[in-house]
Amino acid sequence: MHGSAHHHHDDLPTQLDRAAAICAARGAQLTPLRRQVLELVLAAEQPIGAYALLERLKTARGPAAPPTIYRALDFLLEQGLVHKLERLNSFTGCVAAGHSHAHQFLICTRCGQATELHDHAIEHALQHAAEHAGFRPERMTVEIEGLCAACAG
Ligand SMILES: [Zn+2]
Ligand SMILES: [Zn+2]
Repeated sequence: MHGSAHHHHDDLPTQLDRAAAICAARGAQLTPLRRQVLELVLAAEQPIGAYALLERLKTARGPAAPPTIYRALDFLLEQGLVHKLERLNSFTGCVAAGHSHAHQFLICTRCGQATELHDHAIEHALQHAAEHAGFRPERMTVEIEGLCAACAG
């Protein structure tokens, strides 16, 4: 559901159409199943795990095998349409889909909301620190747990 205090998304059909256009521009295809999985992720109030997605998919279109959902999620991750929150082992829609960007997540331990940040200073600081140690980073995950403004207030 969009419109929560934490997010300023366009409505769902607009987001899904934009996602389809992003994929098409890259020669990839947002098949009906991938689109439906993306819709379930975007419609979730909070980051959602693969198992919960599978349950919702079953409700929406009948029995579905776990590999189906994992393949769809892999595709959506690859296209940058969703992000995986490692700490929660769950998925959330990208607020800047289609743009390559560094991202960090603020995860509220009380309400479960995850807020996506795009702070290049953080990315560069980590990049430099890793390079200083002779390490070549390929993937970075920055997840900060705490209380969101609404829960802290
Ligand atoms: Zn993102
Ligand atoms: Zn909160």
